[in-house]
Amino acid sequence: MHIKTLLNHVTKFKSFVFQDSRLCRDSNKLFIHVEPRRNSKPLCSQCGYPGAVYDHLNQREFLLPPIWNIVVILLYTMRRVNCEHCGKVIVERVPWATGKSPVTKQFAAFLGSWARKLSWKDTAESFRVSWDIVADAVTWVVEWGLANRNIDNVTAIGVDEIQYHGGHNYLTLVYQIDRHCRRLLWIGKERKKKTLYAFCDFMGEQRCKAIEFVCSDMWKAYITVIADRFSNAVHVLDRFHIVGHLNKAVDNVRRSEVKKLRDAGKPAYLKKCRWVFLKKKKRLWGKPRARLRELLEMNLRTVKAYLFKEDFDHLWTYKSVTWANKFINQWTKDVMRHRSLPELKKFARMIRGHQDLILNYFRAKKEFSSGIVEGFNNKAKLTIRKSYGFRSDKLREIALYHTLGNLPVPEITHRFV
Ligand SMILES: [Zn+2]
Repeated sequence: MHIKTLLNHVTKFKSFVFQDSRLCRDSNKLFIHVEPRRNSKPLCSQCGYPGAVYDHLNQREFLLPPIWNIVVILLYTMRRVNCEHCGKVIVERVPWATGKSPVTKQFAAFLGSWARKLSWKDTAESFRVSWDIVADAVTWVVEWGLANRNIDNVTAIGVDEIQYHGGHNYLTLVYQIDRHCRRLLWIGKERKKKTLYAFCDFMGEQRCKAIEFVCSDMWKAYITVIADRFSNAVHVLDRFHIVGHLNKAVDNVRRSEVKKLRDAGKPAYLKKCRWVFLKKKKRLWGKPRARLRELLEMNLRTVKAYLFKEDFDHLWTYKSVTWANKFINQWTKDVMRHRSLPELKKFARMIRGHQDLILNYFRAKKEFSSGIVEGFNNKAKLTIRKSYGFRSDKLREIALYHTLGNLPVPEITHRFV
């Protein structure tokens, strides 16, 4: 069987034919010539119209996906078109590559699909290309996916923020959290009002109107914009975010108490037990659980805060909005009585300030909540961590869309991957 037969089996380029192939044994490279079909006219790369051949450029090399660890290279002599439509001489358009890229679309799609399973570095090493080629390939795949995805019929969204570079750099991520389609929809810089307004502009008025549920945390800028632009939607304050705030409050109590004990020269009971207090009791086993039992017998502020936290967990078991409301009233009242827990009081005040939005969680029958946004959040964090060292913000966004965007892939991928 000829190499040509194999190639024609996996891919066909209209108006072009595969010619002879040559294996270079030393470099382990397979070169395949491709030529225009006789009498076919080149297409202008700007307007796409056919025109007369003006001249030929130097022969170029394009990488195809490797076979049996042999690098496969397509050789082609690009023509220039005398385009009447554009009124100038322009290089031709070829179906297997774009612009000056040395990688065929087939190989870009191939690398892109592997880069979702492996890190970009591993992908580059596995297929013997540079990291930059993988980055370019993923960028192409993602841009294709973004241009070809359908963002109509979004009825539920989750808004979340994510930190990167360890400091105070934020990205706002908007997810579609409908049951039939869950994916990263949009990424914006920072977490300001204008960030979320930019998302609304991106979606357009019509699509924004169709949104019925919005999930977010208690960040004021988000709340303001959601009330303004999604006034018809039910705004659900997400369980995952609320629990996050509560955990932070408990941890703050612990930190301040550790400091106080140290300043007073007392033993460091509370050192290295952050997770003992943050994990749910029912998920705590072995040594940490014994440690917790020990700590619970001491008269510590952290212990009180911990007990309140465990108690708060009941809230999520309610089915009725009325009972959930009663529970919040009682719980916050109990907390407010404790003079020694200012950190928790702050949380309780926040809960009261957003009580109605929190109750929406029960009104929405818990459908659009925690698990989804939390799952996305974890994946996004992982992607950001893996992408540490990315030189540009753009690549960070590309990586996020690549892993979370659930983007359509170009048709040509299917036969190669
Ligand atoms: Zn043209």
